[in-house]
Amino acid sequence: LAPSAESKPSHSFGNIIPHDPSTSHRANATLLMLARNSDLDGVISSVEQLEAKFNRKFNYPWVFLNDEPFSYEFKRRVKVLTNGDVSFGLIPHETWVQPPWIDEERARRGRNMLTQDGVIYGDSVSYRNMCRFNSGFFFRHELLTPYKWYWRVEPDVRFYCDLEYDPFVFMEDHDKIYGFTISMPEWESTIISLWSVVKEFILDHPEYVSPNNSMSFISDDAGDSYNMCHFWSNFEIADMDFWRGEAYTKFFNYLENTGGFYYERWGDAPVHSIAAALFTRKDQLHFFKDIGYKHAEFSHCPQGRQWREGHCSCNPNDSFDFAENSCLRHFMRLDDDWMFG
Ligand code: GDP
Ligand code: MN
Repeated sequence: LAPSAESKPSHSFGNIIPHDPSTSHRANATLLMLARNSDLDGVISSVEQLEAKFNRKFNYPWVFLNDEPFSYEFKRRVKVLTNGDVSFGLIPHETWVQPPWIDEERARRGRNMLTQDGVIYGDSVSYRNMCRFNSGFFFRHELLTPYKWYWRVEPDVRFYCDLEYDPFVFMEDHDKIYGFTISMPEWESTIISLWSVVKEFILDHPEYVSPNNSMSFISDDAGDSYNMCHFWSNFEIADMDFWRGEAYTKFFNYLENTGGFYYERWGDAPVHSIAAALFTRKDQLHFFKDIGYKHAEFSHCPQGRQWREGHCSCNPNDSFDFAENSCLRHFMRLDDDWMFG
């Protein structure tokens, strides 16, 4: 006998307990996406999923950033997808383009070298702009300065599972700084000199290195060399006050002054990851193993109870966690109790 929808209070459908903003604690947080007007279809797909799986219950605002003005059509098609506030921002020119003090001749040689090596985006200046912006500037954009927490989202990603709790509040309540779902090694040729610059910075500023750091995530020889492991930054749930803080500000400026974002092709993923590993306590990094997520060809799929309770649509046997080159085991060795945590 099917109960009629009218006779049932709307909150008892399925086993979804709606979030009640009047009784629960909210975080000062926003969902964030950097995108081009031409990314619209992929933007809609990502927003639609995150709204359905999470934000319909929580109504966090969205911030969209672009180095060009968003079109009327883009805004119209995106705003309709959410009940949350949506803002569309233009990135200040000087935080996006290649700075004038960069030696273009040298930058061009760097691009040619990576192109010959067949490295993805090896030739792209705009990709370098994006990586530098995501490394050092997004959290200073005027649309983001009111917020502490962000969830970075990209066009064309997939969210596989229902999320019934607030990950921002989780981060806050557990004194976390940086959350990820997938970790993997970087293409070495894109960051040839990055680790030597990091080592110099540490020698100059040992005071910023946490006594309880995660060096063993990023180095297999106690810091002598970088093992290329990084958190895949197309997904991040993190605390912008960490990026705005003294340690990261000095770290970014140090990197910036070498020109490596343009002479090489430093990604925001290794830059963020190295900083998060060194300047926070290891217990401030969080693996969101309950968030099913896919970007490009790699996915993270929750297991067991979390897969069932999240109604996840991913195949639990198909998770990058099990891949030979996943860096998850480097992360897990930080804490032998991970399986039971
Ligand atoms: P990948 O994930 O490393 O392959 O790089 P993507 O092409 O997905 O770019 C990463 C993020 O930056 C995505 O959110 C893109 O929409 C965005 N992005 C990349 N290049 C540009 C650009 O030139 N302008 C703008 N506005 N966004 C960009
Ligand atoms: Mn991407």
